[in-house]
Amino acid sequence: MFSRLLRGLRSGVGLRLTIWYSSILALSTLFLFSFAYFLLASSLSREDQEAVVAKVRELAGVYQTDGLSGLREEVSLERTAASKDDFFVRLAGRENKTVLIHVPPQYQKFDVRSLERVRPNPDTLWLRVRGRQRREALELTSTFLADGYILQVGKSTEERERILKYFREIFVAVAIPLVLLGLIGGMFLASRALQPIRNVIRTIHEITRGRMEARAPSPKTGDELKELVMLFNGMVDKIEALIRGMRESLDNVAHDLRTPMTRLRGISEMALQSGDNLETYRESLADSLEESERILKMLNTLMDISEAETGVVKLDIRTVPVSEVVHDIVELYHYVAEAKSVTVESRVANDILMTVDPMRMRQVLANLLDNAIKYTPDGGRVCISADETGERLAVHVKDSGIGIPSTQISKIWDRLYRGDQSRSQKGLGLGLSLVKAIIKAHGGEVGVESEPGKGSTFSIFLPKTKTSL
Ligand code: ADP
Repeated sequence: MFSRLLRGLRSGVGLRLTIWYSSILALSTLFLFSFAYFLLASSLSREDQEAVVAKVRELAGVYQTDGLSGLREEVSLERTAASKDDFFVRLAGRENKTVLIHVPPQYQKFDVRSLERVRPNPDTLWLRVRGRQRREALELTSTFLADGYILQVGKSTEERERILKYFREIFVAVAIPLVLLGLIGGMFLASRALQPIRNVIRTIHEITRGRMEARAPSPKTGDELKELVMLFNGMVDKIEALIRGMRESLDNVAHDLRTPMTRLRGISEMALQSGDNLETYRESLADSLEESERILKMLNTLMDISEAETGVVKLDIRTVPVSEVVHDIVELYHYVAEAKSVTVESRVANDILMTVDPMRMRQVLANLLDNAIKYTPDGGRVCISADETGERLAVHVKDSGIGIPSTQISKIWDRLYRGDQSRSQKGLGLGLSLVKAIIKAHGGEVGVESEPGKGSTFSIFLPKTKTSL
């Protein structure tokens, strides 16, 4: 478990977080302890000093009333009592020579003779006499009696040092496990918090190694990290779909071009096998030129379809009146329709708007109108209309043409599909595929209703939600 945590923390952020967390924990523990230690030390010292002051007052009172003999008696009483709370007592003459001294047995270690060398100053409240060990001291206060004698009472700091030492030991015993616990807890939390990021990194490594289907597991936290992982997975899904789409498009284009390329090769081979006939060469070259143009057109349309199908296409979305686009296309096909005596009628109200890429929509309508004129016998009729409901907009291209047999109707949207009766007409079999791909790229749908011999109605349906105004 610990090694797992460490492995999880190898990342700089995890380690940094843990160090910060542990340092803050250690510092605040230290601060808290120091504060408590200071409070305890000062309260113990105040208690001791209060006791010493009370004692010196008591003994000074005894001296004032009962003189030296009274004090001696009082001190000898103290000696016999020999309690643990015994005080050090010293009475010194005017020259600071000891007159009376009471040194409890536990105070023998203090060099009390040194007191004769230091005449107490009335301004110095407390004197300290060092013991053998560094921390212990005899803390005493002096009072000047009415006859100029000096009365000194003191108490050892040993007892309170013992309590403070015990406190320090408790602190070490508590703080070390606490900081260690904090360190492990910090490591655990940092490692846990960074797990989703590590999963994303591991997934990226797997993807770069070629396992495109790898995804980061979604964390159950519901926070920003979860959102990040979801967005990352969504982005990889999209990239994967795009790559798959592009690969499929490439396969399709390669497959679709194989036939015309073989035909082109066949024309050249036949020309070469036909001998030295210049006329045949000329015809073959003309055929090759025509075929290459077809291939070029096919390639361009196939690329357009693939782009639209994979979603790579960039749509320049605008809101335009449907009638405007329809009018442009009807104008464009005016001569073609006239040549076939087909009447083209536009029944689109001026206030119907569509939010689309107008250039692409012209391509769509041009293909539908081209087909409608192409597959309608001379003297026929084509009508373009539009209607809208709350959610969607529909544009219909209705003709009175040859219609489509029900067996073929599901295939007409396939690439390179050409109906049996259409072979006599010019065409690549890509027009409707392009229409479908462009409409899908706009988030719409296509539909067709047809009755052989009576005519067909091609419809495009577009959502009305998109708006760029
Ligand atoms: P192309 O017109 O080049 O053959 P399309 O993809 O535009 O290719 O159309 C596919 C097929 O759908 C056509 O070959 C034809 O059989 C059928 N079709 C399309 N539009 C019409 C129409 N308006 N009337 C009858 N048949 C149609």
